[in-house]
Amino acid sequence: MTAWLLRYDGYDPDNEPLREALCTLGNGKWASRGSAPEAVAGGPHYPGTYAAGVFNRLSVEVSGEIVENESMVNLPDWQSLTLRVEDGPWLDVDRDTISDYVQELDLRRGVLTRRFKVTDDQGRVTAVAQRRLVSMADPFCAGLDTTVVAENYEGVVTVRSGIDGRVRNSGVARYAGLGDQHLECVNAEQIDKTGVALDARTTQSRVEIGVAARHRVLEAGRPSDVEMSAVVGDDHVWQDITLNVLPQRDVTIEKVVALFTSRDRAISEPFSEARDKALCMPEFDELLRRHVLAWDHLWARCDLELGTADRTQMVLRLHLFHLLQTVSSHSIDLDVGIPARGLHGEAYRGHIFWDETFVYPYLNLRMPEVSKSLLLYRWRRLPQARKLARDEGYAGAMYPWQSSANGREETQTLHLNPNSGRWLPDESHRQRHINVAVAYNVWQYYEATGDLDFLATYGAEMLLEIARFWASIAIYDRAADRYDIRQVMGPDEYHDAYPWRPEAPGLDNNAYTNVMVVWLLQRALRCVEILPDRRRRQLLDLLDIRRGDLERWEHMTRKMRLAWHDGVLSQFEGYERLKELDWEDYRIRYGNIGRLDRILEAEGDSTNNYRLAKQADVLMLFYLLSESEIAEIIEQLGYQWDPLLPSRCVDFYLRRTAHGSTLSKLVHAWVLARIDRDEAWRLFMEALESDVSDVQGGTTQEGIHLGAMVGTVDLLQRGFTGIETRDDLLRFDPFLPKEVPNLRFRMRYRQHYGLEVNLTSNQLVVTGRRHVGEPLRMRIRDAAYEVDPGGALSVDLG
Ligand code: BGC
Repeated sequence: MTAWLLRYDGYDPDNEPLREALCTLGNGKWASRGSAPEAVAGGPHYPGTYAAGVFNRLSVEVSGEIVENESMVNLPDWQSLTLRVEDGPWLDVDRDTISDYVQELDLRRGVLTRRFKVTDDQGRVTAVAQRRLVSMADPFCAGLDTTVVAENYEGVVTVRSGIDGRVRNSGVARYAGLGDQHLECVNAEQIDKTGVALDARTTQSRVEIGVAARHRVLEAGRPSDVEMSAVVGDDHVWQDITLNVLPQRDVTIEKVVALFTSRDRAISEPFSEARDKALCMPEFDELLRRHVLAWDHLWARCDLELGTADRTQMVLRLHLFHLLQTVSSHSIDLDVGIPARGLHGEAYRGHIFWDETFVYPYLNLRMPEVSKSLLLYRWRRLPQARKLARDEGYAGAMYPWQSSANGREETQTLHLNPNSGRWLPDESHRQRHINVAVAYNVWQYYEATGDLDFLATYGAEMLLEIARFWASIAIYDRAADRYDIRQVMGPDEYHDAYPWRPEAPGLDNNAYTNVMVVWLLQRALRCVEILPDRRRRQLLDLLDIRRGDLERWEHMTRKMRLAWHDGVLSQFEGYERLKELDWEDYRIRYGNIGRLDRILEAEGDSTNNYRLAKQADVLMLFYLLSESEIAEIIEQLGYQWDPLLPSRCVDFYLRRTAHGSTLSKLVHAWVLARIDRDEAWRLFMEALESDVSDVQGGTTQEGIHLGAMVGTVDLLQRGFTGIETRDDLLRFDPFLPKEVPNLRFRMRYRQHYGLEVNLTSNQLVVTGRRHVGEPLRMRIRDAAYEVDPGGALSVDLG
C-alpha cells in the first residue's frame, strides 16, 4: 500500500503550498489544488481550480510598456467549506489548536483524505475527516465529504459550504503587478433547499463557467433532514448547515459538485448544466465507487511496476497520477495541449511548451487516442503558426515557443529577475526548436501507432509546413556549401546572445537545432513518399510545395553546418570563445546555483559570457535520437563520426550544466544510462525528487513539472528497456540498472493491444494478450523476432 500513498503527518504551513500542488485532484478536464477547504487565498493557502484550455488575457503597463499576458484562469473555489462550534470563530488551521493532523493522497483510488482534531479555547474537541475527489468517471463532477465528531461536547456546529467566486490569479508572486482579475461573477443563487450555484465569466475571452453544489447530511450513516439556509453574495454563495451534535456521534456532510464551462461539448449553457447536474448527480459514495472503478481501469493500462514497494515506485506512480489528471480520455475533443506545469498552479500561466516531447512517448505506447487528440491542438493552430512565420519573414509554419488559446506567441517580452528586481528583455521566443519538437511528436506518434490516416489528414501538413519554415530560415553559404541557421536559441536558456554581438540576439548554428532539422527534413521527405498518391498530390498542390523545395530539403540534409571544438560538437558556433566559470566559487558563495542566470545578472554579469548551460542542449540529441541515427546524420553531413563522441560530449557539457530546469537531470540520466550506469541512476533519483521534494525550492507549489515527471517514467519505460519504434519495427535493447530487479508494464504498439512486457536483468518476456491479425515484428538487440498473434516470446539476455 505504501507504494500507492503520499502521506503527510502533521500540519506544516511552510510546506502547505507544496502539498497543495502535489495533492491536486483532476481528471484531464479540470483540476483543483489540494488546498484546505476552509482556507481562502493568503498565507500558505492557495485554492486553485483550473479547466484545461480556459484562458483569459489581461493588459497592464510594466516599465512604461503595455504588457499583455494570457493566463489559465483560476475558477471559483468549489471546495470552500468551513465550520464553527456555537458562535466561536470559523475554523482556521493556522490559528487554532490542531492535533493528529494527517493528509493522505491515495494514488490508486484518486482520493485525498485529511484528518485532524481542533480544540477550542473552551476545551471542546472536534474531529474532522474529509475525503475529496474530482471524478475520473464523470468528468463534470467532484465531491467533498466531511465527517465531524464532537469528541467531548454536545452543541451546535455550523458548517458553511458553498462556492467562492472571490478568486484571483495570484498564485505566483513574480506575476503580481501583471493583472490578476480574470473572472467576473454573473449570478449566485440557491438552487433548492440543499444546493447553491454560481455563474461566472472570464473578462476577455468570455468563457462561461457554471458551478453548482448539492449537500446532504448523514447522521450515524443515515440521511438527516437538518436546517440549511443560503447566504447569497454577489460573488459567492454558501449553504449554512446547522448540526446539533452529540458526543462521539458521527455527522457527515456530503457535498457533490458539478462544473461546466462553455468550452464543453454536448451542453446547452454551463450554468443550467451545472445546476441540473448537481440536482441529479449521485450521492458521494456512488460518485466515489464509479471514480475508483475508472482509476482501476486506468491503472491497469498505465501502471509500471518495479518489483519493489519502495518510495521510487510510489513517486513514479505519483508522476503517472498527475499526468493522468492533466490529460486523459476526458481531454479528447477539448482542443487542449499539454501544459508544462499541469493544471496544478499558475506558473507559466498554463502555457504549452516543448515539454510535450517528454510526455508523448509515454502516451503513444499507452493511450495513443489521447496523443492524437492532443496533437490536433497543434494542427488547429497551423494558421497562427503560418502567420507567425510570415510576420517574421519566413515561409511555412513557425509554432510559438509558448502557446495557449489561439496559438499566437505567448512568450512574455519582459521577465522579472527577483534577485535584482529588474525587468529584462526575454528572448526565449527564439527557441525555434519548438518546431522540431512539434514535428518529432507527430512522427513519433505515427511510428508508434502506424496511423497513416492521421498522418495523411493532419500530421503531414504540420511536418511539411514546418520543413518549409526551416528551409526558409536557413541561409545557404555558397562559398562553404553549407546551410546556416542564425539568431536562434537552443534549449539552454542561459544563452540568448553572443557577448560580442548584443545588437543581434540569438546564436548561430545551435548543434541541437541543426541536427534535429536534418532529422526532421528526412522525415518530411519520407512522409511525402509514404502518403497515398492522391493525398500527396493534393497536399503538395495545396501548400504549393514544388520539386525545388523538396530538392532544397534534401540538399540541407547533406549540407547543414555543425560547429566543433575540442573534439566535441559545439553548442553553437563561437562557443569556444566563451570564458570558463569558476563553479566552485559560485557554489561556495550561493549554495544552490541552479538559477545562475538570476545570480549573474544581479551581479551585473551575464550567463552569456560563460561556458555553462541551464540544461541539456547538445546532449538533447542523444535523448531524442539513437546513437546510430546521430552517427548517420553526422556522416551524411560530411563530418566524421567518432564512437567516442557521445561520452566526450557528456563529459564536456555535464560538468558545465547548472540544472536550472527540472528537465536537465532527467535528460542527463537518460544519456548516461549506457555510459555510466551508477551516475545515471544517481541523476535519475535526483530527477525523481524534483517535484515531490521540490528541489528547486519553491517552484513546484506554482505547478508540477510535467515533462520531468513523465520523463522519469519514460526513462524506465523506454530508456532502460531500449524501446524504440522506428522504421516499422518495435525494438528492444534492454539495459536494466541493478536497482530495478524487475520491470513490468503493459503497452500498445500499433494494433497490438495489451502487450505485456516483463523484464529482468537476464530475461525479456513479451506477451501479446489479444491477437489482432498480423504477427508482431520485433528486434531485440541485434536479432529479429516475430510474436505470433496471441503468443509470447521469451528472450534470454545472457
Ligand atoms: C525550461 C524550458 C521549459 C520551460 C517550461 C524552462 O525553465 O528551460 O526548457 O520548456 O521551463 O517547463
